[in-house]
Amino acid sequence: MTTIDDLPIRDDLRGQTPYGAPQLDVAVRLNTNEHAFAVPQPVIEEMRKRLDAELSDLNRYPDRDAVALRTDLAAYLGHGLGFASVWAANGSNEVQQQLLQAFGGPGRTALGFGPSYSMHPLLAAGTGTRWIGSLRDPDFGLRADAAVAEIHRHDPDLVFLCSPNNPTGTALDPAVIDAVLGAARGMVIVDEAYFEYARSGTRSAISLLPGHPRLVVTRTMSKAFGFAGGRLGYFAADPAVVDAVQLVRLPYHLSALTQAAARAAVAQSAALLATVEQIKVQRDRIVDTFRGRGVQVADSDANFVLFRTADDQKAVWQAFLDRGVLIRDVGLAGWLRVTAGTETETTAFLTAAEEIL
Ligand SMILES: *Cc1c(COP(=O)(O)O)cnc(C)c1O
Repeated sequence: MTTIDDLPIRDDLRGQTPYGAPQLDVAVRLNTNEHAFAVPQPVIEEMRKRLDAELSDLNRYPDRDAVALRTDLAAYLGHGLGFASVWAANGSNEVQQQLLQAFGGPGRTALGFGPSYSMHPLLAAGTGTRWIGSLRDPDFGLRADAAVAEIHRHDPDLVFLCSPNNPTGTALDPAVIDAVLGAARGMVIVDEAYFEYARSGTRSAISLLPGHPRLVVTRTMSKAFGFAGGRLGYFAADPAVVDAVQLVRLPYHLSALTQAAARAAVAQSAALLATVEQIKVQRDRIVDTFRGRGVQVADSDANFVLFRTADDQKAVWQAFLDRGVLIRDVGLAGWLRVTAGTETETTAFLTAAEEIL
């Protein structure tokens, strides 16, 4: 049988394993931070109408620049943004890959502060960008002076910040992002995949865009919009950054069907985001219940909670799975991550936790 090792694959990809959270058939799946609620009926109707209008034109390529969708997304973001400041692709992973293709690549470096989103170093590897894994503080926070010192030490071409941070859950103080922008020579990418779940009063890095042409804020419809299967991510930045990614994107990368379905979802954002508050309630319920029981948890501005396990986290993960609850081992010794689900799912998790922890 032929294996990867028999192929003339790039040396830097040898021995690597692909990204993959287990997709197991379990009753309660709280492992990949998807939005717990199914797409509401009015949104389905809107999508059906818009998809139907596209079908007879599928002999034609879609709008290569997705201008109508980018206009809708800019209006959703607010901050006075127009379509020229917004770019969209098949998930924020693709958006970030395009940014690495344009601003990273062989001979260049990207720096991030772990523990953070595991895809950032994988996207760097895939684009031949050398990854520099700096660390957050022991309490998972990130102090401005520590971040600035790391940037001065390594002088990276790109800096990745994640706010709210996955897997820890806490949003960054914009003052930290401001300090990083002041210290970095290269691009600063702030991954705000979970921004809609942030605790009230949390400021988006989008507010820092004026006067900062090297800042890029990425968002996704995979989480709060409940549109993970639709694959749509986007960023807001100076229009020059949009010009830059157009040099590397594949022509017609966003299908007409994706654009139509995403526009329907944005048009119905009020209906889609209506359940975000319910998820936040369940998230805070997990945090409060655990703290009440003396279990250490990180502050969460996201739809998940990182909690401390007294025993080996692999064994605890398995104990939850044995009770029909799939959560996430993010490879952080002594910690596990759980997505806040519906009230019923969260109750199932907390009931299992009561037995296990
Ligand atoms: C889930 C997640 C994303 C989403 O990626 P998509 O490609 O948009 O589905 C991006 N960043 C972080 C930190 C995430 O956790």
